[in-house]
Amino acid sequence: AEEKKAQIGVTGLAVMGANLARNLARHGHTVALHNRSVEKTDALLAEHGDDGEFIRTETMQELVDSLEKPRRILVMVKAGAPVDAVIDQLVPLLDEDDIIIDGGNSHYPDTIRREAALAEKNIHFVGVGVSGGEEGALNGPSIMPGGSAKSYESLGPLLEDISAKADDGTPCCAWIGTDGAGHFVKMVHNGIEYADMQVIGEAYELLRDVAGQEPGDQANTFAEWNRTELSSYLIEITAEVLKQVDARTGKPLVDVIVDAAGMKGTGTWTVMAALDLGSPVTAIAESVFARALSSTERETRLEAQKTLAAGVRESDTVGDAAFVEDVRRALYCSKLVAYAQGMEMLATASGEHNWDLKLDTIASLWRAGCIIRAELLQDIMAAYKDGAEPRNLLFAPVFRDVIEEYLPSWRRVVVEATERGIPAPVFSSSLAYYDGLRRPRLNAALTQGLRDYFGAHTYGRIDTDGAFHTLWSGDR
Ligand code: NAP
Repeated sequence: AEEKKAQIGVTGLAVMGANLARNLARHGHTVALHNRSVEKTDALLAEHGDDGEFIRTETMQELVDSLEKPRRILVMVKAGAPVDAVIDQLVPLLDEDDIIIDGGNSHYPDTIRREAALAEKNIHFVGVGVSGGEEGALNGPSIMPGGSAKSYESLGPLLEDISAKADDGTPCCAWIGTDGAGHFVKMVHNGIEYADMQVIGEAYELLRDVAGQEPGDQANTFAEWNRTELSSYLIEITAEVLKQVDARTGKPLVDVIVDAAGMKGTGTWTVMAALDLGSPVTAIAESVFARALSSTERETRLEAQKTLAAGVRESDTVGDAAFVEDVRRALYCSKLVAYAQGMEMLATASGEHNWDLKLDTIASLWRAGCIIRAELLQDIMAAYKDGAEPRNLLFAPVFRDVIEEYLPSWRRVVVEATERGIPAPVFSSSLAYYDGLRRPRLNAALTQGLRDYFGAHTYGRIDTDGAFHTLWSGDR
């Protein structure tokens, strides 16, 4: 009898690869398994072999031979050099039209480079952003595939099968765009995630130090907020984290956790890419820097606590519900700015790389499976529906009107934080961004004057075209 072939192979069976392989098998696909060291393959088969149909392989040749054509091979090894090493091993064994899928957290320029190199050999290389961590990989992640449109014809149905589903049943997986588009969008997703967490942190600090809400009480506040337009996974788990009591000390757990935030680099990548594009993602940048201030600058902070003046307005806590609602509104507005900036960055990158990104589709993919899943995404999706392109998400009537209503609260909260010496970098920089968009004249005019003075860089005039230079009286 003809040997049964697998629909897809997975190489790299650490937690992410193993869970994606199980997810595929549970959806009725035969999955060929491979790992550099065979122990992981055997451990997976021993523990979860009955999740579905698996084919055990020990060598790359066996893996390749076990697959139906065109072959689909999902690479889930450590990002960086290991991905290139695995590609180098696979390529000599593959045929034209086979598909190599990189589902790791690869940096998008690497994906662009790899795709171009493999396209010359008529092998499809698909960089796929996978969000949702271990749990998502097993039960349904948000999936952002790049690569050629043709590869998606063969690969798409499998990925859509195993992806998370939005409330309306739509798979949280759709073709994003050519070469590195999938990994790029996943990167910006992570950047937005940084900002989303930072604004929650700022609200937490204000509720605590201005409104006098202890973590246990705040858990209720966040649980309530989760029933408003802020409803999201991160707000939901904030309530859980704040509710947690430390078994050893009886204190709120958050009070015994060291206040130094870690990061693995995707936020930094987002900001680096934004700087290259000239895309002002201030909320994401401030969030990355806030983490750096907390951790890299920890020693400096310890010294600063002893030496730097506070100069704050001493005031009692304001335990009134009105202030709590002000904070909620400030959080919503700042979060909206973070998303608006992220989406603008995607639009700018789309033009730069000819990706033709569909922003409504991207918003729709983030509705389930991933960390930033939120009610808000439904409205963002609607704002970009059918190629509607508000120049900025904040112009969409649904958001413009809410911000108009919430602005006084947002401004009050930033003033209160400033006067009390509580850092709220994203609340305040998002407001500055909003005002920067809105103001009829920016101080950039003076900047141009200065540049012309010291460097003869010229300036434009408001009343006529052309580049002008003034013979400044201070000319040397
Ligand atoms: P990982 O710890 O990043 O990588 C371990 C796997 O890579 C093992 O299977 C290992 O094989 C293999 N490997 C390492 N170097 C290799 C090489 N030179 N040649 C062949 N194989 C090599 O695994 P992970 O945590 O499952 O993550 C996989 C990818 O998903 C990464 O890109 C990660 O950033 C991304 N990701 C992770 C998460 C998460 O929550 N963990 C979420 C989203 C995305 P051996 O067993 O032989 O050592």
